[in-house]
Amino acid sequence: MYLHGTSKINGQGHLEIGGCDTSKLAETFGTPLYIMDEALIRQRAREYMEAFRASGLTFQVAYASKAFCVQAMCRIADEEGLSLDVVSDGELHTALTAGFPTERIHFHGNNKTPEEIEMALDAQIGCFVVDNFVELKLLNAMAGERSSKVNVLLRITPGVEAHTHEFISTGQTDSKFGFDLGNGAAYTAMEEAKALENLNILGVHSHIGSQIFEVDGFKMAVDKVAGFAIDVRDRLGLTFEVINLGGGFGIRYTAEDTPLQMSQYVGAIADSVKQTFESAGYPVPEIWIEPGRSMVGDAGTTLYTVGTYKEIPGVNKYIAVDGGMTDNIRPALYGSKYEAILANRANEAATEKVTVAGKACESGDKILWDLEIPKAETGDLLAVSCTGAYNYAMASNYNRIRRPAVVFVADGQADVVVKRESHQDIVVNDVIPARLAKKVEAAKA
Ligand SMILES: *Cc1c(COP(=O)(O)O)cnc(C)c1O
Repeated sequence: MYLHGTSKINGQGHLEIGGCDTSKLAETFGTPLYIMDEALIRQRAREYMEAFRASGLTFQVAYASKAFCVQAMCRIADEEGLSLDVVSDGELHTALTAGFPTERIHFHGNNKTPEEIEMALDAQIGCFVVDNFVELKLLNAMAGERSSKVNVLLRITPGVEAHTHEFISTGQTDSKFGFDLGNGAAYTAMEEAKALENLNILGVHSHIGSQIFEVDGFKMAVDKVAGFAIDVRDRLGLTFEVINLGGGFGIRYTAEDTPLQMSQYVGAIADSVKQTFESAGYPVPEIWIEPGRSMVGDAGTTLYTVGTYKEIPGVNKYIAVDGGMTDNIRPALYGSKYEAILANRANEAATEKVTVAGKACESGDKILWDLEIPKAETGDLLAVSCTGAYNYAMASNYNRIRRPAVVFVADGQADVVVKRESHQDIVVNDVIPARLAKKVEAAKA
């Protein structure tokens, strides 16, 4: 496992994060356990903010909270001066109850319900990222009912799609998100939005993908967005104040991944924005970006206890841990790769190659393949790195497995930020209708 942030192997050969021995964390909080390196989260936030400050542009760095949305994380985002993206009433509620400044909240999503829009209007959030024509009209009408004017960005599909090292330019993008640029929907949307009196159009939004390792896709998006901005100014007399270029900055999960520094992504975007707009005689707009994965991904480590193991001679060796697809669905969902070590025997040489399976009733419940580690015994601790993004956020109660606790570690201190679910939590929303309750009682008697 690649040691980064505050992770290190201590004198006892144990993995230590944020000055906390993971063996002690397991003892105190139990496993599975999500451990978040608070200093590393703050470092990532500062890298983005400082790179933008250095660029001289006006900017907002909005943390895409969907990657890991809990109240303590909203507090850190606020303290670090980030803005916050939410995509549901649940994320919005989390931000509001954490006291996140509402003017820095941006609401995304391709199907915001009237109830969600109402909640966001009540909270007077900073900006709605409008996704489609239905929402455009609904938002205008709902803002009109309370005689308020709301800030909007229109999400456009720029016809650039980026995945890791490749990016493709597509004529017409088949996407559930946004107004298509190529087929003219984006222009029509701007025209309609301009005529709607309760919307204050700040500009446009574009998000080209996730886990991107190159700057070319972002540069191409800047080009397309700038072309659109110029077109809209010339034909509609509307000048954008804000260009939001989305998230998608890649992180290192395994040695195969080769991300750039945050400052390289930001530098390339800033240069490209300045050049493109200045050369068109267009006032350089404010730039917003929305990193999710790269803000929290590599700060997370999941700690498991090894339970059973088995060998199928000549075929495979399995070790099973006390979590799995319920706390990390990404390997099963996308074939995502991770690195791991035995946290309590971190200096020992690898002697075998194993598949790490979870405990759910699915053959596909695996979180690592071909992992080289020392021979694991029942009770050993397995630490899987880079699980900070889209792990807790996507956790489920499949098999009625309880979701793990999350702790923040820093300077030798560990604080629970999400409690482990209890058995009671598992049934808390269950209701037994009266006619069935009788049978329960009869069965008990
Ligand atoms: C998911 C998403 C992000 C964050 O993406 P990451 O790859 O986690 O950085 C940002 N903006 C939008 C609109 C998204 O859908």
